[in-house]
Amino acid sequence: MNLPTIETPQYTCMLPIAQKEVSYRPFLVGEQKALLISQEADNVHNTIKEILRLITACTMAEIDINRLSPVDLEFLFLQIRIVSVGETSEVGIGCQECGEENIMEINYLQHEVIEPIEKVDNFIKISDVLSVELKIPHLVDIAEISKKYGDKPEDDTQATFDMLNRCVDKIIHEDEVLTRDDFSEQDLAKFVEGMTLNMLESMMKFVEHQPKLVIPNDFTCKHCEASNPNIIEGMENFFV
Ligand SMILES: [Zn+2]
Repeated sequence: MNLPTIETPQYTCMLPIAQKEVSYRPFLVGEQKALLISQEADNVHNTIKEILRLITACTMAEIDINRLSPVDLEFLFLQIRIVSVGETSEVGIGCQECGEENIMEINYLQHEVIEPIEKVDNFIKISDVLSVELKIPHLVDIAEISKKYGDKPEDDTQATFDMLNRCVDKIIHEDEVLTRDDFSEQDLAKFVEGMTLNMLESMMKFVEHQPKLVIPNDFTCKHCEASNPNIIEGMENFFV
């Protein structure tokens, strides 16, 4: 006898940045298992890749994950997570004052998109004849860089170079527009190394001034009563 097929429910949401409506379904038991396995391995890069694969499957390949901004992807993953395993989760967070762990419930419905204080143009003028057009870094790039350079990659010059290399979309020299297919990674690395620190800083400013998806989670420590300002951010932390 053939077992009946299980119908999965469908939902829709509006992506906050792309302003596009997307339908999605919850993830299935087998898909959740693959995600949990990748998380146990404690490899953020693999977890992000697994999450992206899951988003593609749950949106029935309706969206191109390579074209969506990090905030839209994180938002979409949160929505899928909420209909799949629920809107809350219990996590233990260490107090900044006494170090003791506080067990608390996070409500994923309380997420917020924080806009950058300043809007930075992605078109950076290097000189009168030379400009660079940047694109928003992809989630996989962000994950790879934090994996390579640790928790605070913004403090690392090499990490800055690496991030900028991934964000350069076009180089415009006089009337000529060069796209990523026109130059190699090595050419680009050399090009970026030839910049002054001021030029580099104005490019980095664009990368740093992007919207963020966060879950505010301020708490008062149960052990020492210190107030802890806290936010939860980063896709890998939206599934705990
Ligand atoms: Zn404490």
